Amino acid sequence: MPLVPMKDMLIAAKRGRYAVGQFNINGFQWAQAILEAAEEEGAPVIVAASDRLVDYLGGFRTIAAVIREWADALSITVPVALHLDHGRCVERCRQAIDAGFTSVMFDGSHEPIEDNINQTRQVVDYARRYLVSVEGEIGTVGGIEDGLVGGISYADPDECVRLVEEGGIDALAAALGSVHGPYQGRPKLGFDEMRKIARLTGVPLVLHGGSGIPNDQIQKVITYGHAKINVNTECVQAWARAVRQVLNQDDRLYDPQMILTAGKDAVRKKVKEKIRQFRAVRKV
Ligand code: 13P
Repeated sequence: MPLVPMKDMLIAAKRGRYAVGQFNINGFQWAQAILEAAEEEGAPVIVAASDRLVDYLGGFRTIAAVIREWADALSITVPVALHLDHGRCVERCRQAIDAGFTSVMFDGSHEPIEDNINQTRQVVDYARRYLVSVEGEIGTVGGIEDGLVGGISYADPDECVRLVEEGGIDALAAALGSVHGPYQGRPKLGFDEMRKIARLTGVPLVLHGGSGIPNDQIQKVITYGHAKINVNTECVQAWARAVRQVLNQDDRLYDPQMILTAGKDAVRKKVKEKIRQFRAVRKV
């Protein structure tokens, strides 16, 4: 199946009260692990490249080509969107779209609201021509975002409405207490604000910092309007644990295939676990 935009996936998820998982790639074997997991669970999936890793991974065109080829080689039948996570500027989003990404996030959350809306609108106008979906962000997700360590700043509901209406986005990342990376203690998410923003904007919400959130809170987040949940840290931790274990077990081991396959299998297992938790099994 060719790569698809994420808009319809998210509308269906919101209606069906489940969430589509976004899983970030940290190498190309990750794409294989994520695609296999989604296929095994019969779930739609969003494979994402974070803008800060795009050059490390070989650039937009390389990423798009590899994901397309992996999906083809693995005979993937579930819907797959290829998404740019935290696009840094309008031009980077355009480059991703030109290369064949089917979805982009423009992250103007650090800009004044007028600039955020204005630049998001430019991305949306360009994306529409190619039927590419666009995600926008309001507020600040805590932890490390784009290599910057930030505090949490809650999304303002009025700004959320403006970004949806004037920016024309398909999905909204409204920062409401989640953090990128590990949590210190139990996450404190703003459920009241979440409900309000979901009701006022009507678009599917996106939860960034989806790792390490207890299951009861994940279920609540889905019930309150989130149709996309981003997970990276839990996959990275599972990968690192597995690679470390296989190396520690035998200090004469040097075969990359054996070492890295352990990491890949751990990512596949984690993605499957998350898909089940997000209630997205057989939702295609
Ligand atoms: P975590 O790394 O905390 O899972 O967050 C992922 C994310 O939000 C990517 O945008």
